[in-house]
Amino acid sequence: MTLRIRPDLDSLPAYVPGKTFPGALKLASNEVTEPPLPAVVEAIAAAAAGINRYPDNGAVALTEALAAKLGVTTSEIQTGDGSVTLCQNLITITSGPGDEVLFGWRSFETYPLATRVAGATPVQVPLTGDAVHDLEAMAAAVTDRTRLIFVCNPNNPTGTVVSAEALRSFLQRVPSDLIVALDEAYIEYVRPDAAHAVDALALRREFPNLVVLRTFSKAYGLAGLRVGYAVADPEVVAALSKVHVPFSVNSLAQAAAIAALGAQDQLLARTDAVAVERARVSDELRALGYPVSESQANFVWLALGDDAAAFATAAIEAGVVVRPFAGEGVRVTVTVSDENDAFLAFARSWKA
Ligand SMILES: *Cc1c(COP(=O)(O)O)cnc(C)c1O
Repeated sequence: MTLRIRPDLDSLPAYVPGKTFPGALKLASNEVTEPPLPAVVEAIAAAAAGINRYPDNGAVALTEALAAKLGVTTSEIQTGDGSVTLCQNLITITSGPGDEVLFGWRSFETYPLATRVAGATPVQVPLTGDAVHDLEAMAAAVTDRTRLIFVCNPNNPTGTVVSAEALRSFLQRVPSDLIVALDEAYIEYVRPDAAHAVDALALRREFPNLVVLRTFSKAYGLAGLRVGYAVADPEVVAALSKVHVPFSVNSLAQAAAIAALGAQDQLLARTDAVAVERARVSDELRALGYPVSESQANFVWLALGDDAAAFATAAIEAGVVVRPFAGEGVRVTVTVSDENDAFLAFARSWKA
């Protein structure tokens, strides 16, 4: 039977999540390995006792907690069921058929998919040879049809960050009425030198068209609960709240996110260990002869080109699940040292 479903969706690939194999070590989705803190589990259990009620649609308590932490007003925050949904909602509020959504490539797979779901046109600007966003080329690619720009920083899957100066001159060059979304899903892992230190919230005060996207899925360890947020001009937040699917940020997620914010110091302390491991893993891979980008996230990117798929398949056979991008490279999550050692053992054997 052929039902009246939008024919343009036929050409869309389904989202491919990181694979899970029973018993294998999963380094494919940039998750944290540690289970949630007891205080977070307790908050979820307490909230579970009330799930006969709808969640607070405005996520008022969470929004207030975030505003206090970030030093912004509640009218500058919109929560969502993962920042993926906020990416999608930013496209919805800006773009439709005939409009262009601009981003670097390769970057987060959600950007082209969600753009096409909206019927808009993805415009992909290649990364530089160092796998960094080419912000000059991106600024040059803005047309009168561009409605939204994503800058993923650190970039998924390459882990690279843009320089503070490049980002500032990009924002100066982009039309001031064009929304630029800075996707900071991995911001907690960034240990920048002076040239790459970006204070997105300060930049946002200077450039009201800048939207900062963050999530509880990565460093805060709540990937399974689905909470993220945008910090944006109240005009953007008002538009985002109109397309927000009612009650989509569930009660358990709201309670857990508040508890995780309360345990911020303990959770963020883990990112120090990941940053140390990231350097160790990168150095060791380079010593083995792998081309490894300069990562500031909780993963590393191996630009293996045509070997990417075979490498990932062999890794699974060795009990380690990594994320291949066929023909381009492989992304490997950096977690705790024994897990990283298991991957390094495979990487050594692949070269042997
Ligand atoms: C993981 C990730 C997100 C966050 O996704 P959630 O929907 O919040 O789980 C957003 N952007 C990028 C680039 C990511 O890698």
